[in-house]
Amino acid sequence: AKERGRGNWVRYAGGMERPASAHARLGGDLRRALDAGEFRIVYQPIVSLDDSRIVGVEALVRWEHPERGMVSPIDFIPAAERTGLIVPLGRWVLRETCRQAAAWLAEFGPDVLDKAAPNVSVRQLHDPDFVNDVAAALADFGLPANRLVLELTESAVLRGQHVSRVLHELHDMGVRLALDDFGTGESSLSLLRAFPAAIVKLDKSFVDGIELDEPDTPEAHARQAVARAVAQLADALGLDTVAEGIENQEQADRLRRLGYHVGQGYHLGRPMPAEKITEIFAAGRVK
Ligand code: C2E
Ligand code: CA
Ligand code: CA
Ligand code: CA
Repeated sequence: AKERGRGNWVRYAGGMERPASAHARLGGDLRRALDAGEFRIVYQPIVSLDDSRIVGVEALVRWEHPERGMVSPIDFIPAAERTGLIVPLGRWVLRETCRQAAAWLAEFGPDVLDKAAPNVSVRQLHDPDFVNDVAAALADFGLPANRLVLELTESAVLRGQHVSRVLHELHDMGVRLALDDFGTGESSLSLLRAFPAAIVKLDKSFVDGIELDEPDTPEAHARQAVARAVAQLADALGLDTVAEGIENQEQADRLRRLGYHVGQGYHLGRPMPAEKITEIFAAGRVK
């Protein structure tokens, strides 16, 4: 969002190029970037709203482009999904997150790092090697399966028999699954029951404005009702919750009263390089 032009560069590179060739070029550029080691991972703390302790980290990818600087994932994940590069890129994110999480676990123990959560795209779920890749990443770095959370969107898990089998295989391995951006897709009770989820992440759009005592619009009022309903539903189904996009203490307080014990957002900790997280772990508290 900081550099508006970036998205345009993706879509209209060269001006006269047809979109398909622009996409092909970006696909090639992403491939080159992956081979050149230009991707980085930043980790955002997932924090207990009860005692401010870090209970996990989400892994978020960045592209450190030699000329454009840090590129946001919203500017290249869609292209990576279209071109299929998300499969090797996602595999790299998965492995790097497992490597880093195992290093944190070895240094600080499971009381400090409970879990690490990379995002997984639907294209990866359809890759025939995906379950093996996850098993190999855990084995190669010695990360126990229950320390890994895979974040998936509702639209990804709605994709039929094959995906359902993959998710159950992962669940049987002991990997935890989180439903990301919950409430924005076609969430339904039957989806939640069919999906072997451990965690639902309440989307930021329900957190925005939730602190207001007299929400001035019906939509704002509905956000509080949805947040409360999601917490109660998760409770009834034995799922953990994470409220996303918390930007101030009033939101954190309100979400606690609505039944949330864990949150994520700029107010609780920004995405940051691994070394920063290491410093926080060493100091013992998020702030
Ligand atoms: P997401 O999975 O919903 O990740 C949360 C996004 O919200 C992150 O943006 C994070 O930096 C941002 N965020 C966290 N707290 C706050 C807050 O308090 N306020 C605001 N305004 N934003 C907050 P980011 O890192 O730009 O990532 C955007 C999206 O790109 C992610 O949304 C995810 O869908 C995708 N993404 C990121 N890394 C990966 C990846 O490795 N693989 C895949 N497939 N997708 C990824
Ligand atoms: Ca996520
Ligand atoms: Ca999310
Ligand atoms: Ca999102």
